[in-house]
Amino acid sequence: MEGQDARDLGDSVRLEASAAPPAVDQKMQELLGEFAGFIEQDYGSFMRADMKTQGRQAINNTIITDDVFEADDAWRIDFAENNLDLATALSAPLRRSKLLGTHNVTGDAPINFLQSSESKLPRLTPKQKEQLESDAKEKNMSPEDMMMVMMGEAGIHELIHAYIPQDTPHDVNEFVTRELTVRLITKHYGSDPTEEVSTPYSTLFNKLTAKYGNDFYRAVFGALRNPLTKFRIFRDLNENELKGLV
Ligand SMILES: [Zn+2]
Repeated sequence: MEGQDARDLGDSVRLEASAAPPAVDQKMQELLGEFAGFIEQDYGSFMRADMKTQGRQAINNTIITDDVFEADDAWRIDFAENNLDLATALSAPLRRSKLLGTHNVTGDAPINFLQSSESKLPRLTPKQKEQLESDAKEKNMSPEDMMMVMMGEAGIHELIHAYIPQDTPHDVNEFVTRELTVRLITKHYGSDPTEEVSTPYSTLFNKLTAKYGNDFYRAVFGALRNPLTKFRIFRDLNENELKGLV
């Protein structure tokens, strides 16, 4: 899809499905724009050119909505292809609070939905609320700010998906996205993801990059020319390594 068409798609979905005040939407755009820069700075040399375009399109095409499932359902009908990402969970607090995002691709243009933190907060179960309050306290934040940060993290997670080709096996895509989200946030914002989540992913990630070098990143971002190497990397991941992790 041409750049302007992709932008128009994002704008029209935003008009219908956005639940975010313009200021919050604007902040999210800024965050994702900055982060797209980090992703490309660190991994751009391993990316297929069209994946860079698709990742960039995801910035404008990220919509904050009241009900991520409803929005995704409503819009998915119109999508020729989709890659529903129900399992957004990059950090322990995020996973525990079940704050979700989705990633879809129609034609060549991505549409990512994020659950609005404001509308999610009153819907947390008492247990989730308790967890959120304790996580927030640990980081010296209000629960509201903590939810905003988590929504930002979900936006970053879905943005990374947009840089990975659609034909990547789903569990590989999810594993890589979770690990890169943690790595990139830690590197560029100095945040401190909880060890319990980052450890199993990091160990496997380090093993793969040690074994395959930069070919691992090229396989992930679609720029690896040798299909046999790509097959080996993804087969390793699928058969042996991802069990119980994603
Ligand atoms: Zn995901």
